[in-house]
Amino acid sequence: MSGNMRSEGISYGEGYSRFLQDKMRQLEETNLLLRDRLEKIEQESRYYQEMQVRYEREIKRLRSELEKLRTPPMLVGTVVNVIDSKRLVVRSSTGPQYVVTYARQYVEPSELVPGARVALNQESLAVVSVLPSARDPSVCGMEVIESPDVDYSMIGGLAEQIEEIREVVELPLTAPERFERVGVEPPRGVLLIGPPGTGKTLLAKAVAKRTSATFIRVVGSELVQKYIGEGARMVRELFAMAKEKAPSILFIDEIDAIATRRMDDGSSGEREVQRTLMQLLAEIDGFDPRGNVRIIGATNRPDILDPALLRPGRFDRIIEIPIPDKEARAEIFRIHTARLKLKRDVDLAKLAELTENATGADIKAIVTEAGMLTVKANKRAVGMEEFEHAIKKVMVNGHRGYMMSLKDMSAMFR
Ligand code: ATP
Repeated sequence: MSGNMRSEGISYGEGYSRFLQDKMRQLEETNLLLRDRLEKIEQESRYYQEMQVRYEREIKRLRSELEKLRTPPMLVGTVVNVIDSKRLVVRSSTGPQYVVTYARQYVEPSELVPGARVALNQESLAVVSVLPSARDPSVCGMEVIESPDVDYSMIGGLAEQIEEIREVVELPLTAPERFERVGVEPPRGVLLIGPPGTGKTLLAKAVAKRTSATFIRVVGSELVQKYIGEGARMVRELFAMAKEKAPSILFIDEIDAIATRRMDDGSSGEREVQRTLMQLLAEIDGFDPRGNVRIIGATNRPDILDPALLRPGRFDRIIEIPIPDKEARAEIFRIHTARLKLKRDVDLAKLAELTENATGADIKAIVTEAGMLTVKANKRAVGMEEFEHAIKKVMVNGHRGYMMSLKDMSAMFR
């Protein structure tokens, strides 16, 4: 009996201890699970804290952007003079000059030099930032071609002029040592004079192509600006750009717009044009004539040019580009019809005879017009009939009577 009870007691004790062990294991497992969850929750909490910081930053950024959108626009001005370490004179883009201060935390004092473009606060007119210079070609109406696609063979009837321009523009770029050896300075600038559409731009482009130079074209009237000092600044930047892109050919078309003979009418507009011309002269004078930037000017009004521009050492070589004569016209017709399908009856010499006084540009227009008429009539090739029609259409004004005969022109420069 007592043995039985003992064995019962043992089995009960064992069962209880197993129960406790199971319970403990269970509790340990739960503990592990809970620890895992805690870790996850902590991770999540860290993640949300990070997100909170990120969103707060985003809110700040958007707030400042909003603030920027709310701020009034700034005025653009040009530094005229630096008075001392705190004050400077600026000319606002609306005209008048002001003595202003600048915000030292935004502006580097060394950048505040006369001529620098700056942004001004609208109320206090304090300089808030220095703007980059407007050397973007489109800003000042420049055309920059790294490698133009015009060849001497595409210019008709100007053999002499091509020869001359090769001598004074091409040679100094391709064989400067020849000038050095002899100790002679090539002309700094070349002036092409002649009626519009006779191939002046074409000639300048062809030289640029032959010498692998960058072709920079600017039209004189683009340099005539409304505000004082702007034109001169553009000239300065133009020359700086030509030097940067050297070897380069700087072609100033319609140079008469800034280089008309000085007549003191006292108007501020006149004075501004004069200032631009002075800057141009200064830039030309400061140039190394043996350097690899060549300047070509073009005008169809040489009669109104300021003599200062034509003085030796400036535009001291003048090349006349005449209206093409009969042979030249035939050659220009040949160049422009080279890619056209022509009927057998087309006689280029006859076309040249029919187009007295036409310029190269007119001839190009005639050829294009004849081509268009052929397309319109759905024909396969351009015939004499289309050319005759085109000549009538293009030359309708009996050719716009050119203001000055070339004889008069050349007399002026003797
Ligand atoms: P502008 O003074 O108006 O600038 P321009 O003398 O510079 O005139 P270009 O721009 O060179 O004239 O010529 C205009 C177009 O006429 C050229 O693109 C070319 O197709 C044609 N052309 C003019 N002259 C000739 C020429 N001698 N040979 C062939 N084409 C010519």
